[in-house]
Amino acid sequence: MSVVAVPAAALAADAVPAKQLFGKQNLPSKQPTQSLGFYAKGCLAGGIAIPVDGPAWQVIHLSRNRRWGNPEMIALIERLGRESKAEDGWNGLMIGDISQPRGGPMLSGHASHQIGLDADIWLTPMPSHTMSYQEREGIPEASVLRRDKMTVDPRKWTKAHERLIVRAASYPQVERVFMHPGIKKKMCDTLEGRDRALLSKMRPIYGHHYHFHIRMKCPSGSENCEDQVDPGPDSGCGKQLTEWLNRVKPRPAVKPTKPTKVVKPKYLMLSALPNACKVVLNAAPVPSMAEAEYRSGNPVQVPVTAYATEDPVAKVIAVASDDFSVFIPPMGSIPQPLVRPAMQ
Ligand SMILES: [Zn+2]
Repeated sequence: MSVVAVPAAALAADAVPAKQLFGKQNLPSKQPTQSLGFYAKGCLAGGIAIPVDGPAWQVIHLSRNRRWGNPEMIALIERLGRESKAEDGWNGLMIGDISQPRGGPMLSGHASHQIGLDADIWLTPMPSHTMSYQEREGIPEASVLRRDKMTVDPRKWTKAHERLIVRAASYPQVERVFMHPGIKKKMCDTLEGRDRALLSKMRPIYGHHYHFHIRMKCPSGSENCEDQVDPGPDSGCGKQLTEWLNRVKPRPAVKPTKPTKVVKPKYLMLSALPNACKVVLNAAPVPSMAEAEYRSGNPVQVPVTAYATEDPVAKVIAVASDDFSVFIPPMGSIPQPLVRPAMQ
């Protein structure tokens, strides 16, 4: 019986968290497109980038290089941008994180966004001018909530916000739309008629009070993509919402009597992801970023290569992210419950 030698590189790859392997990828794999695995445990083959600027969107946080997705998802975001600009009084989308070039776990921030089917859209419309690289990096996280963190602030919340979220949820290929419980409450209190049927797709989650999150169903052609369980018909406006709101209710700080036990975070290893993700990691890259950009026939106003590679900040972040202890807190200044329930 012969012993098959395992290459040292393969052994090494299994000994480090998968986020370090996927977080280092600058370009997508040159493969047919596949969303592989689950939203919080998977990767993306043949990813496509949304252009930095389009007729109804601008991508922010370019240094993160997370504007990659399944082409169906990119097309859907572009459509949301165009339709909400034409019909909802929304000036255009500010697009935050989608996925890394090859998806997978990230060095900072999200648990999901791994298979190119999750996207964060800001609850601030894009400005009318083309933003500079630095402006995109430093976009303020403008919450739409009141100071009680339980309800939206009527001075900040508009009908256009509501229409934008309703439109996102109305697309049949959208599986869920995540938003802060305070925004979900506003939706429960306001939506009428046919729109109320969309409430079951609108799911509460903390953190999402300056942006919301669109999750798309597995597109056809991605056989190894694992759909999330259908949300069912319940609007989620009753007991479920009350429970979520109770968890964000401001309460007096309690002095801990015992020292808090430090829980070591568990990182996904490569072996936890679908086997095909190893192939994705090792596949040759597409020759250049510009070649991997999605073209939907819309004019691209700014060539993508004008950004990122030359920017000193991008370089600093690229170096820093080699150290996996770097963590960019994604949730702004709103307090978070210590135990965060999963995105349901
Ligand atoms: Zn998100």
